[in-house]
Amino acid sequence: MNSTNRSTAAELPGTAQAMVTVDDIWTDDRIALENDKDALRQSVIDHFGRTLGRDIDHAAAHFLYKAVALSVRDRMMERWLATRQAVESGVQRHTCYLSMEYLMGRALRNAVHNLDLQDELGKALEELGLTLEQTEQLEADAGLGNGGLGRLAACFLDSCASLALPVTGYGLRYRYGMFRQSIDKGFQIERPDSWLSEGHVWELERPELSCRVRFGGRVDLITELNGNIIHRWVDTDDVRAVPFDVPVPGHDNGIVNTLRLWNSSATDEFNLHEFNAGGYTEAVAAKNAAENITMVLYPNDASENGKVLRLRQQYFLVSASLQDALRIWLLHNDGFQGFADAHCFQLNDTHPSLAVAELMRLLVDDHRLSWDEAWSITTRVMAYTNHTLLPEALECWSLDMIGALLPRPTEIIQEINRRFLEEVEQAMPGQLQQHAEMSIVSFDAQPVVRMAHLAIVGSFSINGVAALHSKLLKEGLFANFNRLWPTRFNNKTNGVTQRRWLAYCNPGMKSLLDSTLGESWTGRMELLEQLVPLADEQALQARWREVRNRNKLALARLVAERTGIEVSADMLFDVQVKRMHEYKRQLLCTLHAVHVYLDLLDGQDHVPRLVLIAGKAAPGYYMAKSIIKLINNVASVINGDKRTTDRLKLVFLPDYNVSAMEVICPAADLSEQVSTAGKEASGTGNMKFMMNGAVTIGTLDGANVEILEAVGSENFFQFGLSVDQVDGVRQGYAPSRIIAGDARLTRIFEAFDSGLFDAGEAELVRGVIDAARSPHDAWLTVADLPDYLDSQQQVEAAWQDTAGWTRKSIMNTACSARFSTDRTMQDYNRDIWRLQPIELPDRETI
Ligand SMILES: *Cc1c(COP(=O)(O)O)cnc(C)c1O
Repeated sequence: MNSTNRSTAAELPGTAQAMVTVDDIWTDDRIALENDKDALRQSVIDHFGRTLGRDIDHAAAHFLYKAVALSVRDRMMERWLATRQAVESGVQRHTCYLSMEYLMGRALRNAVHNLDLQDELGKALEELGLTLEQTEQLEADAGLGNGGLGRLAACFLDSCASLALPVTGYGLRYRYGMFRQSIDKGFQIERPDSWLSEGHVWELERPELSCRVRFGGRVDLITELNGNIIHRWVDTDDVRAVPFDVPVPGHDNGIVNTLRLWNSSATDEFNLHEFNAGGYTEAVAAKNAAENITMVLYPNDASENGKVLRLRQQYFLVSASLQDALRIWLLHNDGFQGFADAHCFQLNDTHPSLAVAELMRLLVDDHRLSWDEAWSITTRVMAYTNHTLLPEALECWSLDMIGALLPRPTEIIQEINRRFLEEVEQAMPGQLQQHAEMSIVSFDAQPVVRMAHLAIVGSFSINGVAALHSKLLKEGLFANFNRLWPTRFNNKTNGVTQRRWLAYCNPGMKSLLDSTLGESWTGRMELLEQLVPLADEQALQARWREVRNRNKLALARLVAERTGIEVSADMLFDVQVKRMHEYKRQLLCTLHAVHVYLDLLDGQDHVPRLVLIAGKAAPGYYMAKSIIKLINNVASVINGDKRTTDRLKLVFLPDYNVSAMEVICPAADLSEQVSTAGKEASGTGNMKFMMNGAVTIGTLDGANVEILEAVGSENFFQFGLSVDQVDGVRQGYAPSRIIAGDARLTRIFEAFDSGLFDAGEAELVRGVIDAARSPHDAWLTVADLPDYLDSQQQVEAAWQDTAGWTRKSIMNTACSARFSTDRTMQDYNRDIWRLQPIELPDRETI
């Protein structure tokens, strides 16, 4: 791969293309596709037989799904192109959303509903002996994300398209997405997610838009005739970035935005030396390193890992995306006058924060702008979203590593930092401590580059993702920066799209809401508030319970399929699903289940309850994996005990992902959001549950605070320490004293000490329990446990009042409007992006 970067047009495939014109083929004379049953049926048949070349002998179900998906995709193509033309015309301001993760899940159902094809397509499929529901299940999840951050990006795209906002998503096309999880003897097993192995019908490869990303090499200084010194980055190992476009259809508005995912591949150049020495196969094989960049998603949620491949991925995303934006701009413009007014780059966490340095490099080195001109543009277009306060998640790259991989961008980072420190000296003269804390490159003997600081210094807007989180950013982590630039900091509370997370995943509730409120609530969430005065109405309550009961039966089926455990829909469905992490405290839920179990054995009755836990642990996160094992050990004791079988079940559901959540959130009665206060930036699972009528039991953390405020304390079970109390409790924290002082806790921990839940893994299980009992437990599990048990007692009392509970459930849905990403996107747009909605020319075709 040691080719030098002689850039030639030969990189474009098919050099003969210049001889051919497409003017006669590209006309508007295409016959518009109809959306009625017969036309859809014909499309499916044609795609099955012609595009896919299958016949009944080959009627593998997957090809049926593909034929259906292609038929739907056909009906977006013209609108997709029209949207792209409108966005790329060079006049409209638009936003490029840069994210290492997009947790999209399945696409078919969403596309069918957003295009309003469900009725006719349903009838067409019925004639072919299929149902839409069955067909949808045949699609693999696009799991290009870890959890909340990646799913947020996916919800943002849906809302932007539905609001006709010109926003393009840029990401990576990982060949292997989030790993698939299975459970063996209680342990997590990871298997590769080869989601592309059967092809992905939604994507459109666009090799003609490929670009080149450079790595390694060195920087030469060259003095030009006029005395200017320029920097040439040479002897680089280059990688080709090939975009794959995925359509993002808006709801019922004809807009189709684009998610552009970059795939890495080798350049067509070879190491000539090796090649000429007869090493043909070796030279070709060396190209693997280039292909590897987008091979796999790093499965770490909320923790950085410092691996050089990850840094390559980040730079690859940033460089390709910025080159693409500049390419599009220069199609219609001569220089960069006006560029800043026409663009915003929203950085989803620090993962793409190299964009600050890369835009400078492209403008200064490639397009020959002065430093000051380039910096003025950069700091008017970059906007940074912070997603976490956890120290282990704050990305820092060793200066040596980044310098070796990206010598020229690293020089630029150092120059940005030099100028920044001058500015700090002006504003805070002589405050050396502040300078050291704020510097982008740390003052350590082994310096690191603090990516959050790079993002802050280069951005005009810095936002947190819930009111509490943004406040903590300003007062804590970024207090110095807030003093310097107070107007840059703002809050944008997260949301979820109500289309995927209520209307489409909960069709029973959708028709109930349609008949109660009219159908327009799907795009106007504030209409849900009309449920408030109806919350006590008996007829509505009865229908509400009926819908929820059917959803619970569906979840019970999923549980039975995956675990073999039978659960009754009459139970209280108490659910905690999210990434496995100590701060999220799945342990708290589990300890409560143990408490209930021991109570039942003691003859104390409880309401029948299913405790359902699901989530993946990062493969290298020992404690999180131990917690999974502990949960499974406790589950097998509880579920194996005939004495408690109709009262309590504890289930760990394997392989939590978007499609699983689409079954889980419509069926939950109680939503567990129990993180240590100050640790969860926002949460979005909490919002999906609320929208679907689950009642939250939660701490005052992240967006829980705003959920409580929206729904009222009578419809929310709040417990635990607040952020203000947490630090005080840490001083002289003595969990064993708390345990000794509470008979319930004493009994729980004695049960663990007796070996009841060891299942041959005493060391591992006791490791988790001892960590919770340690005075150094950062998550304060024992400190919050008594209050949590009390709060669960109140849950039981409330559950026994069926009408009262149903009221709480209705109130949660009714008050969930503000947690729609439609609202979130309007906030971003009002304060940061300032985009005008896309207007498409009127066309007959869709
Ligand atoms: C919503 C969602 C998340 C985020 O859940 P939190 O409870 O906010 O951590 C993670 N994974 C999937 C699959 C989701 O759908």
